[in-house]
Amino acid sequence: MFDAANSGQTLLAPNTELAAALFDWVERQHLALGHEIWPTPRIRDFSGWLRERYAERQLLDASLPRCLNDVEERELWRSVILESDGGAELLEPNGAAQSARRARRAVIDYGIPLQKLADYATEESLAFLDWNRRFEARCRELHCIAPDQLLASAPTVSGLVWIESPIWRPVVRRWLDSSAIAMLPPPRAVSAAPPRAVAAASPAAELAAMAEWAADHLRATPDFRAWICIPDLNLRRAEVADAFDAVLAPQRFLLTDADVPAPYAVAGGTPLADYPPVRAALAALAATTGMLSFEAVSDLLRMPQLHFSATDAAAAAQLDVELRSRGPSEADLADWLLLAETLGAPAMSALKYLRAFLTTLDSARGAHFLSQWVTLWIAAFEAGPWVLRQRWSSTEFQAAERFRELLASLATGDALFGKQGSVAAIRILSRAAADTAFQPQTGIPAIWVSAQIMDPWLTYDGLWLAGCSEDRWPPPLDPIALLPVKLQRDYGVIPADIEAQLQLAEDLQARWLLRAGNCVFSCADTSDGRPTTPSPLLPVSSEPVSSSPQPHWHAQALHAPPLEVLRDDAAPAFAVDVERTRGVSTLRAQSRCAFRGYAEGRLLTDRLEKPVPGFNLRERGELVHHALEYLWGQLKGSAGLAAMTSEPLEALVANSVSRALAKQCEQRDPGARWRRREHPRMTALLNKWLAIERLREPFTVEQLEQGAQIAHHGGLDFRVRIDRVDRLLDGGRVLIDYKTGNVSPDWRGDRPDNPQLPVYALLRPDALVAVAYGMVNAGECGFVAEHSRPKVFKPSRRMPSSMEGMPDFPSLIALWSERIEVIAAQFAAGHAEVSPTLRACSTCNLQPLCRIPSALDDQESADE
Ligand code: SF4
Repeated sequence: MFDAANSGQTLLAPNTELAAALFDWVERQHLALGHEIWPTPRIRDFSGWLRERYAERQLLDASLPRCLNDVEERELWRSVILESDGGAELLEPNGAAQSARRARRAVIDYGIPLQKLADYATEESLAFLDWNRRFEARCRELHCIAPDQLLASAPTVSGLVWIESPIWRPVVRRWLDSSAIAMLPPPRAVSAAPPRAVAAASPAAELAAMAEWAADHLRATPDFRAWICIPDLNLRRAEVADAFDAVLAPQRFLLTDADVPAPYAVAGGTPLADYPPVRAALAALAATTGMLSFEAVSDLLRMPQLHFSATDAAAAAQLDVELRSRGPSEADLADWLLLAETLGAPAMSALKYLRAFLTTLDSARGAHFLSQWVTLWIAAFEAGPWVLRQRWSSTEFQAAERFRELLASLATGDALFGKQGSVAAIRILSRAAADTAFQPQTGIPAIWVSAQIMDPWLTYDGLWLAGCSEDRWPPPLDPIALLPVKLQRDYGVIPADIEAQLQLAEDLQARWLLRAGNCVFSCADTSDGRPTTPSPLLPVSSEPVSSSPQPHWHAQALHAPPLEVLRDDAAPAFAVDVERTRGVSTLRAQSRCAFRGYAEGRLLTDRLEKPVPGFNLRERGELVHHALEYLWGQLKGSAGLAAMTSEPLEALVANSVSRALAKQCEQRDPGARWRRREHPRMTALLNKWLAIERLREPFTVEQLEQGAQIAHHGGLDFRVRIDRVDRLLDGGRVLIDYKTGNVSPDWRGDRPDNPQLPVYALLRPDALVAVAYGMVNAGECGFVAEHSRPKVFKPSRRMPSSMEGMPDFPSLIALWSERIEVIAAQFAAGHAEVSPTLRACSTCNLQPLCRIPSALDDQESADE
């Protein structure tokens, strides 16, 4: 092979993976011989070579039909299937297109006459024949040919050699044989050590054994090279990479950005659409195709590709938080950008680049040919998600280059795709990127992991063949969809014939034994513990292998240093000159759990909101507050309510609701549809509430939602805002706080769940006869109160006032004062122990921070 490559001959391999391995081998020979310069080896996979020859012929004869590229071929199959009878009803047209392509390939490879297929006349074979007819007709219309037609016009040029392999397509193999092209003899057989067969306790243990085997050999012989075949690699790429990284490249788990090389590589690509530059480009394009949810715009804003610096990333995170409370649940990209810009971040890099991206695309409206879209898209990418391309890693550059090639191939398909609107064009591009596998060029390292059950042709120091269990080796039948199985057998389609599969397996097994001095066959029990029997075809009986999986976290945990327990539940004392309390919510959090008080009150660990369709719970609460403020501002008390007849009252309620909606929407407007829906709901709620207010002892409203007042407790200031203060006829005062959820008398006890009403009482103790939650709730309206005489409200049988056992309000206020002072003083002193009340954790999101399960001892956990 070395001589052939150096004499300028072209070596043909049956697939790209083998071609790459041969190329690498020739290059390594030159290096081993100390060469500094050598001719580039001409080693091609056969399909690529055919395309190149056809392209050369087209240069000489412009009348030749164009050969469809991969994307065009897929899209053409998809479109003919969708246009066929019943095609539109297929759930998965892409899957059908794939099957049709594979079936056509098999028909050509094995020389199956279409008439034979028609004779079978099964539903599937007839569907395939119809699709195939349409496909060929469309090719003629477009003056194109499919790649599978290239062989018919392949030239027999001199200077060709090919390597022998059982995976040649039969039709190609016949052509190679008949064209009298020289075949390279397989490499010399190595002197083989006895092969081994091993059985692992699980697929993970099998991978671990493989990785350890490679690592052991690399340690003993640094230039050890191995070929590993894992037939189900594509189903468990992540597990394979994890197992190999854990043993062969543990440095990859370091938390650095470094692109760490590893002595192994996994063959076959992953979808191009998954690589960061491509993902960013597609996400930005998808964002222009309609309404965008908050989650989608949040992802877009936080894309690293749009952040010039860490400051920009932090600004994007801050903007994300703002949009959560100010944004709609969905809007188009232009509206999102406008809102974000008005929130004060127009200079942020993500917004700047997204604006530039959108402006570039805005220059095109209506339907265009894909070549026009591609030009525009590339300009938009370079203004937006690719603007910081100078920072890309090698892998990202390669992926973006491959994506550009894909775009270029789409741009040649104007005749096929015709004019497309923006959404349809973006769909075509997204499908193409998702269906295109890509693998960055890493060279061929010492350990090559392949999914292809094939003869590696080259000799290696070691070979490992996985999945050699009774049910998977020889491979089970895998007939080609859409073609009758009997017909496939008649024409020698190997995956459809168990005998042919067996013969192929025996042939491959014999070759493998010749290719490496160290050959291992393995199988594994299933991951749910079902035992697996090694294949009887294996040349030796198996032995158990004891490797255990080494997920990196496991290895890290094993080697973790012993941890010393340090109990640290005292924060620095509250710094009154630089810190601010958060009003009653600080005391509430501290009372429920000292750590929660510290985290929420001082570390400001706020729960992130998320825009929901319509008004969220907080906003609905604020709407009720706004509406009742206006309503009682007009009524002024129970007399005003009683004097008003139904019609003016209806108008007043409606007006209150409209004003509340207008005021609330200044903060966040979920849209006209939601405003319209909210109006009748609020109106009904207010009418229900007024019915409860009518049952009360006569009162006048003394104060409504006044500005914040300052309460002093534990040496700290707390801003407090009382919703409403009523005055009764005898001068007694009632303090009311509106709640729109369900409420209970949660202010009681030494550690009240909510000390809000006691704090109000301490602020306004004069002539106090009652404090109350006004439960303004569509399910139930009423007052939940502590009162010194029963007629202030309609008595609540469910939650009666107890005055906590005190005879009058002055005594109760004294009791509350003691409690609030203790809670406030603890907060001021920095008490931060994890000490939740019984139900505190059920309404708290701080578990990841306080680690409550590990903070409780077993008995407490059981109690919880
Ligand atoms: S989850 Fe429970 S223990 Fe943890 S901070 Fe919240 S209330 Fe305290």
